[in-house]
Amino acid sequence: MPTGFTREELQNYARSQRAEYEGVLQKIVEIPSVSVEPERKPDVRRAAEYAVSLLQSFGAQARIYETKGHPIVHGRFDRDPKYPTVTVYNHLDVQPAEGPDWKTAPFAFTRDGDRYFGRGTTDDKGPAITALFGAKYARDHGAPLNIRFLWELEEEIGSPHFETAIRENAKEFATDTAVVSDTVWVSRARPAAPAGLRGLQGLRFELQTGETDQHSGTAGGAARNPVTELCSLIAECVDGRTGRVKIPGFYADVVPPTKKELDDLRKCGFTVKDFKKDHLFRSLRVNDPLEVMKRIWTMPTFEVHGIAGGYQGPGVKTVIPPKATAIVSCRLVPDMDPKKIVKLIKAFVKKKNPDVVVSAEHELAAYQGKTTGPYADAIRGAMKFAFGKEPVFVREGGSIGAVLSMEKVLKSPVYFLGLSLPEHGYHAPNENFDWPQAEGGMAAFADYFRRLGEMK
Ligand SMILES: [Zn+2]
Repeated sequence: MPTGFTREELQNYARSQRAEYEGVLQKIVEIPSVSVEPERKPDVRRAAEYAVSLLQSFGAQARIYETKGHPIVHGRFDRDPKYPTVTVYNHLDVQPAEGPDWKTAPFAFTRDGDRYFGRGTTDDKGPAITALFGAKYARDHGAPLNIRFLWELEEEIGSPHFETAIRENAKEFATDTAVVSDTVWVSRARPAAPAGLRGLQGLRFELQTGETDQHSGTAGGAARNPVTELCSLIAECVDGRTGRVKIPGFYADVVPPTKKELDDLRKCGFTVKDFKKDHLFRSLRVNDPLEVMKRIWTMPTFEVHGIAGGYQGPGVKTVIPPKATAIVSCRLVPDMDPKKIVKLIKAFVKKKNPDVVVSAEHELAAYQGKTTGPYADAIRGAMKFAFGKEPVFVREGGSIGAVLSMEKVLKSPVYFLGLSLPEHGYHAPNENFDWPQAEGGMAAFADYFRRLGEMK
């Protein structure tokens, strides 16, 4: 029976490690590993190389695995092949960061009391390092477990090479279960774990009706205007005010939340006021908290991200543009099939405006999480141990491609132990993480590993 796992002992451990934790976080945050920017490619590699040396300095075996894009880092605290194996997934690439809204330099680590500012502090470098410190403790205190780390560097661009990479290395990456730390609680007051993630289907609508700009005085009235036609088409697809998708059959496969899920939503600590504040919204389509949560987590969407075409400059230039494009995506929920949704939308558009060309872009199925069974119970127990309260299982509105790939290829169930808070600003300016979440996170991970080691 491993000892040393009381809350107090773990608190002492975290305190003793704080300076080192901050030093590591500083080093990794100050490597601008922006995966989407080609000119940052050397930085992304540098982040991978640093990660390997970090894992090695903790006594892990670690190496880089090449992919056709950015590399993957795999590390292992292996004790005995007889013991169960758990793999912690995080990503070390980050979103771009620039602009006047940043109060500190995004790629400088800035400490303000218990808060740590910088791109990647919460998404996902802070949680990655936290899990590593928790794992080190569990290993040093005899948890009978092999703990591995799978650190991706392409999560922010949709994990295009992750599935192939883990398939090619399926033997080395084999694991009994995986735990992902890349999700956000609903509020600091109560831990939360995702019971499901929305999927995504990207689409482009394109309409070309001419070759060049034409004068709206000489041709207007007879000429087709592709911008206007795309606007009409979009209005036939979705009610802009309510968000209700009007394409027949769109909602057919949506699994509504269960009574238990709705109960969890009611007590998860979500408030409309905080939601508006965190996202800087002036108003919402609905104001009832349960209705907002249902919409962002359990319902699909049809969103227009941009319409391009025609004149965009100052004043009014009276042209009829020859061409217009709309960038659209649908967030999907269990059991919607991305391919079926594409078919449905293509058929609908063909009927309404046969000249519009619809092309399908990036797709990702929705994910139905597991909230029962021994692993989910271990997550519950570890969160309660570290943060004083059991987590509520809520769905998340975003998508993590790697989760589906790990379940499919490694055939190991995935669970979530997220540490980020809404005010940490995922993908936003002034992204931050904080010491209470890191301290609790180290305890939660150490306790989770202890529980897995004791699991039959
Ligand atoms: Zn992330």
